[in-house]
Amino acid sequence: MPDRLAGEVSNSIYNFGAGPAMLPTAVMQRAREEFLDWHGTGLSVMELGHRTPEFIAIAEQAEANLREILSIPDNFAILFLQGGATSQFSMVPLNLTAPGDRVDALYTGLWSGKAIKEAGRYCSVNVAASSENNHFTAIPDTSGWQLSANARYLYFTDNETVHGVEFQQTPKSGEVPLVSDMTSNLLTRPIDFSAYGLIFAGAQKNLGPAGLTLVIVREDLLGNSRQDIPRLYDYAFNAKEHSMANTPPTYSWYMAGLVLQWIKQEGGIPVMEQRAIARSSKLYQLIDASEFFSNPIATGSRSRMNIPFLLRDETLNNTFLKEAKSHGLVALAGHRSVGGMRASLYNAMPEAGVDCLAGFMADFERRYG
Ligand SMILES: *Cc1c(COP(=O)(O)O)cnc(C)c1O
Repeated sequence: MPDRLAGEVSNSIYNFGAGPAMLPTAVMQRAREEFLDWHGTGLSVMELGHRTPEFIAIAEQAEANLREILSIPDNFAILFLQGGATSQFSMVPLNLTAPGDRVDALYTGLWSGKAIKEAGRYCSVNVAASSENNHFTAIPDTSGWQLSANARYLYFTDNETVHGVEFQQTPKSGEVPLVSDMTSNLLTRPIDFSAYGLIFAGAQKNLGPAGLTLVIVREDLLGNSRQDIPRLYDYAFNAKEHSMANTPPTYSWYMAGLVLQWIKQEGGIPVMEQRAIARSSKLYQLIDASEFFSNPIATGSRSRMNIPFLLRDETLNNTFLKEAKSHGLVALAGHRSVGGMRASLYNAMPEAGVDCLAGFMADFERRYG
């Protein structure tokens, strides 16, 4: 087996895990080069104080690159927090609603379901549309959405990581700001910020290692948090403190900065988007042409990031996973709630990884199909 530590990193092991997910090889190599001595300081980034000029430069560069890559307007604050995407299931309603307020939400899979349940502890949640009845295999058609007249925001999960459904267009919410969980598809296509009030993402799918949670929030929405919440959960306080109210996840922030630099060097969002389409199309084509593999998601709702698929003969699941692993194709088991397989194809996955998986799947079908 090729040795990652010896630098033989490029196309040896392909990690299809949903998260924490693979990171670009170039980023990992750069981090290794800088690990013991960041830019001649004699210190690792891990050992730098978060208020030192050195770390502040790292932090500001990451924010500037993110703003540039996604064309984030000046009236949005960018927060680098902890707590994971799940922390935002509570922080969003605690900061953007008052008790008794109403919000609209689209229930399209496991992650929106969790967010809806948590928000319901703090405000009134109107599930404007749900695909639960068809097992989350399609985004509900816009014509059936029951939006409220007085909602504070419309909440949705842009890409459902477990079920493999992704919004193909920005949902239309009228005047109401959109709030979106983009944990698993941020940085894979352009975003029209004029429709959004807030976007959040846990870093470990497409941005960097676990531990960092990104919140991009329109500044006029700040300052309305509930009075009784811990200050550390107040967006306005974190914005005022430049995400340094306490020690931020410095190393994850640094790694995210390297990923953002990499995206910029590769050609930015247009290139990430084009690659995401190329990778996922290749796999969907193989699955659709096969009698042995299947994907249950409606063609107009399919995720470019997470592709769940089933083997016709489920008793072969373990054989499939074992053989895949021996080919360097790892972490293909589906989420425990849906079973089967799942291939996660984030920005760091090279097309060669998909080619390798497709070749293995075609061969597996020939031998067992
Ligand atoms: C992984 C994931 C989460 C949960 O992230 P944590 O950082 O573990 O809380 C939430 N939403 C989506 C869409 C995800 O993919």
